[in-house]
Amino acid sequence: MKNKGQLIVLSGPSGCGKGTIIHSLLEQRQDTVLSVSMTTRQPRKGEVDGVHYFFVDRATFEKTIAEDGFLEYAEYNGNYYGTPLAPINRWLEEGKNVILEIEVQGAEKVMARCPEHMSIFLLVPSLVELERRLRNRGTETEEVVLNRLRLAREELQRSSHYQYVVLNDVVEEAVARINTLIEAENMRYSRMETTVMEVMKYVSTQ
Ligand code: 5GP
Repeated sequence: MKNKGQLIVLSGPSGCGKGTIIHSLLEQRQDTVLSVSMTTRQPRKGEVDGVHYFFVDRATFEKTIAEDGFLEYAEYNGNYYGTPLAPINRWLEEGKNVILEIEVQGAEKVMARCPEHMSIFLLVPSLVELERRLRNRGTETEEVVLNRLRLAREELQRSSHYQYVVLNDVVEEAVARINTLIEAENMRYSRMETTVMEVMKYVSTQ
C-alpha cells in the first residue's frame, strides 16, 4: 500500500531563493509536485499563466473565495494569493509530496487546518544579501523593493512558528537539507505503520 504524500509548507522572504530551490528539488524528486497558486498580481517578465501562477482579476479571485475553492489565501503587498484546494488531496492520496510555496499568513492557516503538514522556513544569510538579491532581480520598482524588505523583516520574526529552518547560503546545500527533512519525515512511525504491519503479518504465519 502506498503511503500518503507529505504536505510541505515552504515560506521565506521574497527574494530568498525559494523559486531556485524548488526548481532544483522538483528536478531531483519525481515524487514531489508544486501547487500552482492563483494571484491577482500582474505577471512578471517571463512568467507563464498556469505554470508560475494562475493570473486572475480580483472578481475571479473573490468568486473562488466565495465558493470555498482555496485551502488558504492571503493578501500580500496589495494582491491576493491563494492555494487552489481541488488538486491537493488527490496528489496526497496518490502518494505525492505537495509543496506550498506561500507567505506566512497563509502558512499559518495551513498549519491550523492541516495538522499533518511539514513546515519549513527558508532563511537568507542576511538582510543585506536579501536586498542585493531583490535589486539584482531588476523586475521591481524601488517602492516595491523597499516594501518587500519591510515585509521580510516581519516574516523573519514569524519564523519561530515553523517546524524547521533551512539556511539558503548555497542552493545545492539548501536543497540537500530539504531532502533530508523529507526522508526523515518518511520514517516517522505514523508513515511506517503499514510497513510494520506487513512485516508482523509475515512473522505470524511462520
Ligand atoms: P511573489 O509576488 O514574489 O511571486 O510572491 C509574493 C509572496 O506570496 C511570496 O512570499 C510567495 O511565497 C507568496 N505566495 C505565493 N503563492 C501564495 C499562495 O497561494 N498563498 C499565500 N498565502 N501566499 C502565496
